[in-house]
Order: sequence, then structure tokens, then C-alpha cells
Amino acid sequence: MNKAYILLGTNLGEKRDNLQQAILSISTSLISIVSYSDIYETAAWGNTNQGNFYNQVIELNTELSATDLLQKLLQIETQMGRIRNQKWEARIIDLDILYFNNEIIDTEYLKVPHPYLHVRRFTLAPLVQIASEFLHPVFNKTNSELLENCSDNSEVKLVSKIEKMY
Ligand code: ADP
Ligand code: MG
Repeated sequence: MNKAYILLGTNLGEKRDNLQQAILSISTSLISIVSYSDIYETAAWGNTNQGNFYNQVIELNTELSATDLLQKLLQIETQMGRIRNQKWEARIIDLDILYFNNEIIDTEYLKVPHPYLHVRRFTLAPLVQIASEFLHPVFNKTNSELLENCSDNSEVKLVSKIEKMY
């Protein structure tokens, strides 16, 4: 059984619904969801001329390999109507693999741990909520330590306690 952490992001349409729909689609016979962070809101990163993002992190148990999990996530993005045009554009749903066990994967199509995980407060804040002591296999630091050392000072605001949603 593999353990994975996924970052969900959305800044188009009904953002709570998008997160919920993605989580429902992820949860299948081959993927079970072990825990959810709350939902956090942040200003768009990179291209700031667009709506705020809602972000959430979930922990999964899955029999799928990392590559198969990525394929499944990309398929859900497409099913939910995501069209890829330019980098950092507004999106209905973005599903990124943050960690896959303690593996280090570096291929053209898949980089794990996610290369920007440690520099983005909107990733670390929800991640620390559900996996504060999980060790980053490259930096050998816990997520808590990464957050303490993170120089991204963007505001990450708690918008929704998860108990109220599901
Ligand atoms: P981004 O998430 O950086 O905004 P996209 O969601 O458009 O960009 O993803 C582009 C590609 O990134 C995907 O097709 C996938 O092959 C690749 N990729 C590499 N590493 C990862 C990862 N850890 N999680 C998700 N996608 C990844
Ligand atoms: Mg992505």
C-alpha cells in the first residue's frame, strides 16, 4: 500500500464544489482517502491578475503506482473541464502529487516531492495540518520545519472547516 499527499487547487466557478467533486472522483476502489485538511484561500501566485485560489491537501492510501496515480489525477482534471493553455492560468481544478511514500522521482512527467512544495505557504499550511511530522525525503526536514523556514509571506486564510463540508 502506498501513501500519497495531494494538493488540490481551484480558482474558477464554485470552488467548494470543485474541491468536493474532485475528492469524490479520487475516492475509488483503488484509492482511499485517509485524511483531509481544511480549505485555505490565497491570492493567485505567478499570475496575480486572476481570482483567489482555494487549496486543500488530502492523504491517500492507494495500490496504484505513482505514474498510474498521476494519470488518474490528470484524467479527473480533464473530466472536470480543465483545459491547459498557458502556465499559471485560472483553473477549475489542479491536482498535484506532493509526496509519494518517501520516494524521490524525477522524470519529465513526474517530479516528487513536488518541486515547489517547500516554497509555497499555500501548500505547506494545509499540509502541516494533516502531516506536520512527515519528513521531506530530499531536505530531511518535517513539513512543520519547512513551514517555519518558508520565506513566502503570502496570506493563507482559513475559509472552511472541513467538518462542515462533508
Ligand atoms: P502546474 O501544476 O505546475 O500548474 P499543470 O497542472 O498544468 O501545472 O501540470 C503540468 C504537468 O506537470 C503534468 O502534466 C504532469 O505531467 C507534470 N507533473 C510533474 N510533477 C508533478 C506532480 N508532482 N504532480 C502533478 N503533476 C506533475
Ligand atoms: Mg498540476
